[in-house]
Amino acid sequence: MIPDWLAELVTGTDDLDALLPQRRVVELPMITRFRGITSRQAVVFRGPAGWSEFSPFLEYAAPEAARWLAGALEFGHRPAPEPLRDAVPLNGTIPDCSPDAVPGLIARYPGAGTFKIKIAAGGIANLDTDLARIRAVRAHAPAARLRFDANAGYPLAAAQQLCVAVAALPEAADWLEYIEQPVAAVEDLARLREWIADRGLPIRIAADESIRKAEDPYRVAALGAADVVIVKAQPLGGAQHAADVVTGCGLPAVVSSALETGIGLRAGALLAASLPVDAAAEAIFAGPPACGLGTGALFTTDIIAGDTHRDGDDHLGGGLLSAWRAEPDPELLAAHTADAETHAWWDARVRDCLSELRRQV
Ligand SMILES: [Mg+2]
Repeated sequence: MIPDWLAELVTGTDDLDALLPQRRVVELPMITRFRGITSRQAVVFRGPAGWSEFSPFLEYAAPEAARWLAGALEFGHRPAPEPLRDAVPLNGTIPDCSPDAVPGLIARYPGAGTFKIKIAAGGIANLDTDLARIRAVRAHAPAARLRFDANAGYPLAAAQQLCVAVAALPEAADWLEYIEQPVAAVEDLARLREWIADRGLPIRIAADESIRKAEDPYRVAALGAADVVIVKAQPLGGAQHAADVVTGCGLPAVVSSALETGIGLRAGALLAASLPVDAAAEAIFAGPPACGLGTGALFTTDIIAGDTHRDGDDHLGGGLLSAWRAEPDPELLAAHTADAETHAWWDARVRDCLSELRRQV
């Protein structure tokens, strides 16, 4: 499970300054509460290969956070995947909100040709509210391609009800890319997909939690449970493992963020840019799939040099994210450095995760 280079790295030294050189804990304020948090903490460091980021969510225990450390060490110490493109397209995200809020949210993602709409927050009882939000996005971004994310919010029967309602929306086949994780269990995803095929509904299914949180991400493909897989570099233990999951599943992939700063987002951009667009992906996305890496828009600021996501040049400009490594801007880094107590907490956490990785060697 642990690649040789990582085993060598984590057993070779106990010195955090060697493993995470020039590390700094940063804390970035978010424009709105997301995932229950109003600010995001991350360790950024300058490895021999470039700047990287370790940022598992605060509540994650060592076994899960250790995979994120593997991903962070890979990006800092190893060459990034070879990009086939200079930049990747980004999707905008429309959270669970009233239709009135939709135009303002769309305006936050200038140039985005794809939007991901969160649904199912209130279960199937809120289907009409979800459909009203979807119609609002269609009205204000008529040329955009859409994808819905249910975050495993439905039982199977409710997901079937959703699919019938969505298939009845005008020209759904032309603009709907997929519905992401409508149900939790991978077996239910497979059943739903079969049910959709039996009825000839123009709906594709994407697996997210079934890839990211599963013991065995390859079961999605083995059971025929999805048309698309969602992958994230840091939570999957690095871009290499994420790329292996994509290859192993043999399905078109959409790369998403784990709410990283501008440093960590680039691991995702490089991963996405390294994935070839095959005929199956072309059929769904009509080009390289839009990535869920536009989450920099959820922060009030960033730490990277040339962070221009507010006025649109490099970071979020034209709905694109550059597929090369980023460096922190020294002034922004200084402005958002966390206090000594927070640094000590993260150092202890890194040590816990290192112990966990060593146990797996
Ligand atoms: Mg998702």
